Amino acid sequence: RRGVVVVGAGMAGVQTAVALREQGFTGPVTLIGAEPHQPYDRPPLSKAVLLGTAEGSAFDVDFEALGITLRLGCEALGVRPGEHVLDTSAGPVPYDSLVLATGAEPMRLPGAEGVPGVHLLRTLDDAERLRPVLARQHDIVVVGAGWIGAEFATAAREAGCAVTVVEAADRPLAGALPAEVAEPMARWYAEAGAVLRTRARVARVEPGDGPEEPHHVVLDDGSRLPAVAVVVGIGARPATAWLAGSGIALGAHGEVLADDRLRGSVPDVYAVGDCASFPSGRYGERLLVHHWDNALQGPRTVAADILGAATGEVPEAYDPVPYFWSEQFGRFVQYAGHHTAADTTVWRGDPAGPAWTVCWLRGDRLVALLVVGRPRDLAQGRKLIQAGTVMDPRLLADPAKPLKAA
Ligand code: FAD
Repeated sequence: RRGVVVVGAGMAGVQTAVALREQGFTGPVTLIGAEPHQPYDRPPLSKAVLLGTAEGSAFDVDFEALGITLRLGCEALGVRPGEHVLDTSAGPVPYDSLVLATGAEPMRLPGAEGVPGVHLLRTLDDAERLRPVLARQHDIVVVGAGWIGAEFATAAREAGCAVTVVEAADRPLAGALPAEVAEPMARWYAEAGAVLRTRARVARVEPGDGPEEPHHVVLDDGSRLPAVAVVVGIGARPATAWLAGSGIALGAHGEVLADDRLRGSVPDVYAVGDCASFPSGRYGERLLVHHWDNALQGPRTVAADILGAATGEVPEAYDPVPYFWSEQFGRFVQYAGHHTAADTTVWRGDPAGPAWTVCWLRGDRLVALLVVGRPRDLAQGRKLIQAGTVMDPRLLADPAKPLKAA
């Protein structure tokens, strides 16, 4: 038997391999990863690993004991679905079931590719390159005020660097949150001693004259920002270029278009984690989620469906309430659910204070909430979203009352 081949040894790939064993799969499981390192977790890369308070973030999984064959430093190059063969840098690998878990790749700053001193933050190697840069306590420019940009700026300020964050939109997190919610978050930058320059675009990065000389980030208004390092956090795209021509259907962002059991468009191929989107019955649209919890939950559905092929058991549709957290500027930010611009916002608490919550209602139901320093709201809200409970907006708006049904 060829067994299950999982491509991508990040959170989603590792969890798929582990879930297969947990659910009783006894056939061969092979986990293929392009990176040379033991599989590791990414969230600590912009936090403890960057600051050097944690050495690494390798997953605590005994692959050998679980009978999972690890093939690291091996890159998948293409799939031949008709023949059930994965082509890799180490040769062809036949499969019964193939799980695509190649995650996402950070977008590069146009024109700055290969310029010295310009960094991305996605891999352990990236974090290890950045750690000594922080230790120099010098000027750093961050491009992009998204989740990664905010977390990196936090770590760099903590390390004692002078930090300027350059953002093309008029506010941080413009793609994720409405202006009224992002506005109080923009103030956190200044409080932490970082400079946030919105409506600013990078025209080019000029390398320093010598190894000790700073580079310069030139903005389109002509200003020149000195920097020993430029960290680019302008978003990520599914790492699926290698699937072109395979016949596996991809969406507008390059994501694998999976169904509600995370199956791809060709037989015996699944996709999970940052590289895949799935139709959400709960939200009535396709979701492409780039957060850790999705790479934890999705693999259970994949494993159940692979096992179900033998037993005839069909797993429940994958329809999670998405969840993520971010640690920025001394605050613990959490989000659950999914909202659109058409949903109504209800505030719980004062956004100028240390702890507050924003709720999104669609009709009389809670569809999402963002929580700053109120983890209890998050836990209660997540359950209410899950259950589709009818809410009373007046009760919701009182931060002294627990989040509960009308
Ligand atoms: P990945 O973790 O990207 O793993 C995919 C793996 O596949 C990679 O190792 C890659 O090298 C490999 N691969 C790619 N192409 C190939 C190929 N062709 N052949 C073989 N292997 C291949 N989420 C949160 O919810 N909260 C956080 O606080 C948070 N912090 C984060 C901080 C950082 C710095 C980063 C980068 C991400 C953070 N995330 C956070 C997001 C979270 O880490 C991701 O959602 C999660 O890692 C997705 O897991 P994945 O397995 O789908 O993809």
